[in-house]
Order: sequence, then C-alpha cells, then structure tokens
Amino acid sequence: MTADREPGFATLAVHAGAQPDPTTGARVTPIYQTTAYVFDDVDHAASLFGLQAFGNIYTRITNPTTAVLEERVAALEGGTAALAVASGHAAQMLIFHTMLTPGDEFVAANRLYGGSINQFNHSFKSFGWNVAWADADNPESFADAITDKTKAIFIESIANPGGSITDIAAIADIARKAGVPLIVDNTMATPYLCKPLEHGADIVVHSATKFLGGHGNSMGGVLVDGGSFDWSKGGRYPFLSEPRPEYQGMVLHETFGNFAFAIAARVLGLRDLGPAISPFNAFQIMTGIETLGLRMQKHCENAQLVAEWLDAHPAVSWVSYAGLPSSPYHALAKALMPKGAGAVFTFGVKGGYDAGVAVVSNVELFSHLANIGDTRSLIIHPASTTHRQLSDEQKVAAGAGPDVIRVSIGIEEAEDIIADLDQALSAIG
Ligand code: PLP
Repeated sequence: MTADREPGFATLAVHAGAQPDPTTGARVTPIYQTTAYVFDDVDHAASLFGLQAFGNIYTRITNPTTAVLEERVAALEGGTAALAVASGHAAQMLIFHTMLTPGDEFVAANRLYGGSINQFNHSFKSFGWNVAWADADNPESFADAITDKTKAIFIESIANPGGSITDIAAIADIARKAGVPLIVDNTMATPYLCKPLEHGADIVVHSATKFLGGHGNSMGGVLVDGGSFDWSKGGRYPFLSEPRPEYQGMVLHETFGNFAFAIAARVLGLRDLGPAISPFNAFQIMTGIETLGLRMQKHCENAQLVAEWLDAHPAVSWVSYAGLPSSPYHALAKALMPKGAGAVFTFGVKGGYDAGVAVVSNVELFSHLANIGDTRSLIIHPASTTHRQLSDEQKVAAGAGPDVIRVSIGIEEAEDIIADLDQALSAIG
C-alpha cells in the first residue's frame, strides 16, 4: 500500500494483514494447517513462552493464517488488535472472562440475539458473572442498572432479530462516566455500515459466521480491542492490572499498552479455555471479507426494496426495518449507518401463527433455517422454531410473537426475492 495514503475500506478488506508468502511467493495467504511450530533454539522457545517475543508456539494460541484475519478485522474496525476464535459465542465468553471475576456484574441491552440472552442468563450466571438487563431504546436505563460491581456494558449495533438500532454514542457516554468499557456486537452491521469504535465503544465483537464470512460456510468469532480503555483503574480488571504468575509477574496492561486486552484474551482466555478457530475457517472468513463492501451494499439495497414491498402488501401487518422512513429507528440509522440499515429484519403476517408457518413452508428461493448473513436469502418463523419453548407472553416480549417472521435478505436479484415472498404470502389465503 502507498505510504502517504490511508487505504480505504475496500482496499483494507482485500489487503490488510496479508503479504505474498515469504517462502513460496503464494499471493493468497496459505492455510497453515499445522498445530505447532519449530523453535529456532531453546532461547527462542523461552522468549516465546515468556511473552518476550511475538511468534507461534501452538495453533490454539496463534496461527499465521488466523493472524491475517485478525489484522484485517482490526483494520476494518479501526482497532489496535483483534483475536479470532471458534464462534461469536466463544468471542463473547473470552471478552467477559478477561474482564470479570465471580460476583461481578455487567449491563446488557434487552434486545439481543436470543443465544446471547441464554448465554448471559444461564451459562454466565454459573460462572458467577451476573447480567442486569437495560432497555435498548433508553440509554438512561443503562445508567440506572449500573452498580459498584458493574464492569462492562454490552449492546448490539443493529439488534437481531428486530433490526432495531442502538444509540451507541449515548450509551458510550454512560459507560465512560461510569468508568466501564462498552462492548458492541457489530455482527449485523459489520464495519462497512458502522464502526462502533468511532462512536465511543471500547471493544467490538463479531459472529464472523454471519456477514464477515458471508457465505454460510464457516463458524468464527472475532473480538477487536479499541485500545481506548484504561484497564489499570483501581485494580478492577485484575487479569490486566495484576502481575501474572505464569508470565514471571508481567502486568499485561503495562507491557502491551493499547492492545493489552486482545493479548490478555489470547494468552489467558484462549490459552486456558481453548475455543480456537481452525485455520481453514479463518481462510474462508478472510476470503469472504474481501467482498464485504460489495456484498453489504447489495444486501442493503435488496433489503430496502423487499421491506418497502412488504410494507405495502395486504397480507403483512407491520415491517420492522430501520431503512423505512416510518421506523422509529430511521433517524438513528441515518446518523449511525448512512450506507444502509442492514439486511436482517422482521415483519408480521395477518393470520398469526398458522400464517407464519404457511409462509416459511411455501418459500422456494428462501432457505428455511436458523442463520443470518448468507449470500442466500434466509427465513425463519421464530414462534415455531427458535422460541417455541417460550410461553405466548414470553414470545411476544422477545419479539417472537406468533405472527413474526425474520428474514435475512441475500444478494440474489431483488425481483426474484420479492417474487418468492409473493407466492409464499399468497399461500396464507
Ligand atoms: N451475535 C449475533 C448478533 C448473532 O446473530 C449470533 C448468532 O446468530 C451470535 C452473536 C453468536 O455467534 P455464533 O453463532 O458464531 O456463535
């Protein structure tokens, strides 16, 4: 890249982190399918184990293919460093493992991917990490939920499934005043649409399984260190501010400065909990990222057209898409993500549960499955699938009422996507 220019998004998406392979000249980053790496000598090994030199020991902790993915996502988000792991949920687990000790609390938006709500309510509770829920639409409710045990705030930039937009800057302000980091799950927006670090977030997390990889073929997760948070404060984040016995008493935030969080998540969390990404998946995801901007542009254009069409359809009672001027999130979407409001949203069908089941049973181009962020258009009726175990009241509260359908609009021709929905909606009768 040219030294006197800051490369733009599309250039970083193709090049960041990658160079021709120094040994073979291979232009595309090879899949380094190895578990371990030969040391130069005993001193080299000692310096790697002691964190005195950067290098590879074992693929659970670092891998050269995965390193390119990490550098690329860090560059696109504008962070200081990143860590790629086996899934989005693994990335969330490592973030909280690096910040919290048993008895600590964090505040999370109530509008989140259902799997995150489960992870926080149940598995995290068994680790002694306690979640307090706040109203995603009311930043002040985050301030109200903060106690002296609160160590972090967690939100989604665009919330899954409802496609609502969270006021990142307002909540970042509250986090800053409380002296806690703001973590933003940017899976649904991707850095093409929104860069949370620019709006005051401290850590960004992705399910790379979705739009980053973008082809529905590889699980992965990435956490990005914004380099902005002071982890030394009052010994509240001991993994970063206390001497580490396994690294000769090293204090990670002193040694690694503005990328200490990513290092701690790697050399403590990933090392000990172990959810490493396979180099093959890292390769697939970084290849997907090369076309991220092109894909997101088409995803958003298609989603806008489909949402407008659904909004005018007589069998549809409502559409929740921030790209529609009638959405209560429209102004926030324009301010935070002017290039588009994403490609995942919900709508309601007249006729309730049976109508919802009829639509997902009759689609042909759409795939009926539990995923988002594929090149293909995807559809699900949460009340009969992901949320079926909840009571009717709980379903409505979770945005998964009997009439709700969630779509993830792909990059096929918009006319074909609409034609498929048209024939599926006609099955309602
Ligand atoms: N965050 C969001 C917004 C998601 O939609 C998902 C999965 O659907 C996750 C996190 C979890 O990611 P993964 O399935 O890669 O563990």
